[in-house]
Amino acid sequence: MPSAKVVIIGSGFSGLGLGHKLKEQGIEDFVILERSGDVGGVWNLNTYPGCNCDVPSHLYSFSFAPNPDWTSTYSPQPEIRAYLQDCVDRFGLRDHLRTGVEVTGATWNDAEQRWDIDTSEGRWSAQVMVSAVGPLTEPKLPDVPGIESFTGKIMHSARWDNDYDLTGKRVASIGTGASAIQYVPRIADQVGELLVFQRSAPWIMPHDKRPITDEERARFRRHPSAQRRERTKVYFSKEILVLGFVKRPKLMRLVEGLSRKHMERQVVDPELRKVLTPDFTIGCKRIVPSNEWYPALQKPNVTLVPKALAEIKAKSVVDTDGTEREVDTIIFGTGFHVSDIPFADKVHGRDGRSLAEVWQGSPRAYLGAAVPGFPNYFMFLGPNTGLGHSSMIYMIEAQIEHVTRALRVLDRQGAATIEVDRATHDSYNRMVDRKMATTVWELGGCTTFYQDVTGRNATLWPDWTFSFRRRAKRWKAGAYVLARARVPASATR
Ligand SMILES: Cc1cc2nc3c(=O)[nH]c(=O)nc-3n(C[C@H](O)[C@H](O)[C@H](O)COP(=O)(O)OP(=O)(O)OC[C@H]3O[C@@H](n4cnc5c(N)ncnc54)[C@H](O)[C@@H]3O)c2cc1C
Repeated sequence: MPSAKVVIIGSGFSGLGLGHKLKEQGIEDFVILERSGDVGGVWNLNTYPGCNCDVPSHLYSFSFAPNPDWTSTYSPQPEIRAYLQDCVDRFGLRDHLRTGVEVTGATWNDAEQRWDIDTSEGRWSAQVMVSAVGPLTEPKLPDVPGIESFTGKIMHSARWDNDYDLTGKRVASIGTGASAIQYVPRIADQVGELLVFQRSAPWIMPHDKRPITDEERARFRRHPSAQRRERTKVYFSKEILVLGFVKRPKLMRLVEGLSRKHMERQVVDPELRKVLTPDFTIGCKRIVPSNEWYPALQKPNVTLVPKALAEIKAKSVVDTDGTEREVDTIIFGTGFHVSDIPFADKVHGRDGRSLAEVWQGSPRAYLGAAVPGFPNYFMFLGPNTGLGHSSMIYMIEAQIEHVTRALRVLDRQGAATIEVDRATHDSYNRMVDRKMATTVWELGGCTTFYQDVTGRNATLWPDWTFSFRRRAKRWKAGAYVLARARVPASATR
């Protein structure tokens, strides 16, 4: 059976970033297992028209691998994918990578004090297992009756079929989240007719996207410190929003004013404006920047259906009013399984229960990374690490610092296992819940994918991001329990 000191599952920002830092730490005995044919995670898988990051690229990239060549302040998906592909060689990860290998299950082997990891290509054994499978990996389709009876084309935004020609088609687009807001304006002119189903109107902010000039790129290449300054500027311009999201939700009214003005400038018809005005406080759901969304909805071939999708028939879609419309194609911009963390079914800890069984639909972890009963296991972007305002790469880097520190502690102490202390885990989660109680996500009057089956916000981090990083970096004495290798029974005899 192949074995490694560390098995990393997933090759997005998290998996590649961790691989790089393991190498810097002198750990070469690790593999990265990736079920897709290539690296890049969401930036490899989301190929829909208009797919872009919505956090500026100077911040939405590794701090330790700046890219002076971004062509736009918010890069398009192919550029981010190319950046991550380039990181594989930049970090020397090629020999550690196994693409096309899916992890189907993992069980803690207490006798061996190692993880048995089942994959589509056989079993691996690892001292430490790290899941970097991403919080936005498994596309979610709504539970609409009749979906299987549809005879036309169905696509999810995260599994776009670029060979399918939308020209002249009658298309229903379901959902008004971040992905739909990016692809709807791009396909509106190509399709024959576009129905945009809106269950809940989103708050939209003006987009400040612009091309990065040749001179700027040359300057960043010559003076990396100029790009670092740019990154810091972007970081603080985003971080200031925590004041409104978390500390003083009433401040969100200022942001709401900007969003309302944006709508007033772009939507003339007061009736349409009414339909497009959200019924919750801005920030309660993800705020999306776009200068193209409102104009797209007002094109002559585009109809906004301010209703949920109630039923799908062989050739049509039916809204909650019972109105039936014929379509050729349905595109689901309906997001991902987030707070239910699908990978949790696959990981079985010391007592044989899976993470999903332990969590019972309400995930909790220490620093979004470690769970009692799951020794030598760390996850990336686990519970309460999500952000509504800034770059997830910042959170990933904080977790990389935490996981690499844990591995250093494990090795220096000559221990076989490291496991988060239950009291530490519990008090950390009480702190998260306390901080969450006064946030706009709790008080803003919306229900979102941030919430788990109990209604707890299991997705977002309710504080400054630098406070998360400080906690992740600081090694709290007693936060983890270390155990030495057991003496094999044969040796004691
Ligand atoms: C369209 C889109 C736009 C986004 N834009 C932004 C943005 O602007 N700013 C921001 O901060 N965040 C954004 N995000 C959030 C994004 O999820 C994170 O920023 C970040 O890319 C997560 O990286 P990751 O490596 O943790 O996970 P991912 O990028 O999701 O990578 C996980 C990898 O694990 C692999 N994997 C999953 N399960 C298995 C398995 N069982 N076996 C083997 N491999 C497996 C997947 O194939 C995938 O390659 C966006 C997400 C999406 C979907």
